[in-house]
Amino acid sequence: MTASQPTAPTAPTATATATADAPYHFFDLRVLRTERVSPSMLRVVLGGEDLAGMGSAGRDQRIKLFFPHPGQDAPVVPRSEDGQWYAAWCALDPGVRGIMRTYTTRDLLRDPDALVVDFALHPGAEGPASRWATAARPGDKLCVLAPVGAENGGYDFRPPPGTRSYVLAGDESALPALAGILASLPPEATARVWIEVQDPADRQHLATEAAAEITWVVRDPAAPFVDAFRAADLPDPATAPYAWIAGESATVRALRRNLVQDRGYDRKSVRFSGYWRPGTTEDQLLTTGQAA
Ligand SMILES: Cc1cc2nc3c(=O)[nH]c(=O)nc-3n(C[C@H](O)[C@H](O)[C@H](O)COP(=O)(O)OP(=O)(O)OC[C@H]3O[C@@H](n4cnc5c(N)ncnc54)[C@H](O)[C@@H]3O)c2cc1C
Repeated sequence: MTASQPTAPTAPTATATATADAPYHFFDLRVLRTERVSPSMLRVVLGGEDLAGMGSAGRDQRIKLFFPHPGQDAPVVPRSEDGQWYAAWCALDPGVRGIMRTYTTRDLLRDPDALVVDFALHPGAEGPASRWATAARPGDKLCVLAPVGAENGGYDFRPPPGTRSYVLAGDESALPALAGILASLPPEATARVWIEVQDPADRQHLATEAAAEITWVVRDPAAPFVDAFRAADLPDPATAPYAWIAGESATVRALRRNLVQDRGYDRKSVRFSGYWRPGTTEDQLLTTGQAA
């Protein structure tokens, strides 16, 4: 998939049908524990008997989470692994069907099996997902639609073979993906990484073998992230850099414009994805078709 219109949450149909390479399955999981990674980031570690069958490409591996409504013991999700579940889910009462949100596999641990998901909290504009994470307790049930193999259609970070130079940018919602991408880079890679966070303490250690220069920018309306990025010393387009950008939609668009229009990056080498939009829930993005 090459760069295209910035989208909000990725198409559920695409996720449902996955690819010819590896199908997606539904996994019934339970919260094992939660950890406060930083002021704005809550980690939820999930377990389940069939978790051994889950796969991940690492990088920006996206998954769909289904949350129960208040008062429900478990999310209501129609099971079908032939790609038809989405129509069945849409046909259910929105007040009953599991609330669907898109997240990233922060880690898939083995021995014992555990799925790690990091939730960026957004106080003042909480939605069902961030509310659920904040209240999550061991034993709480969650349904996850995730791939069964490492090679699947649910990730976008696909640099051409031989790429050595990377530009990565995003906000807290993209931090799990940035962590996965950085962990996937080889030692000969160089990466310029720009990350916008709410609080200075939201900085995390991001493991990588690459020579990565990470710039953390604390959100400040008087000094916008976009301006800092525009002023950044980034790799010359002649070095064929590959860029990956995700986070708030308008910011993503602005960063992409800077790379392609102002700096002359090859548009095919700039992957970008709007992960959320201010004042808009993921359900609204789906119903207006903006989730693509
Ligand atoms: C491919 C993909 C991968 C993603 N991976 C992750 C991930 O690993 N971790 C993660 O935290 N998020 C991730 N997101 C973003 C996440 O899906 C959205 O933030 C989602 O809207 C959160 O759902 P909610 O129920 O909390 O809020 P919603 O009900 O969808 O929205 C409620 C309100 O919260 C606002 N809002 C939503 N997200 C944010 C935010 N991040 N910051 C500030 N305000 C916000 C909305 O504008 C709205 O006003 C990903 C999105 C995509 C498309």
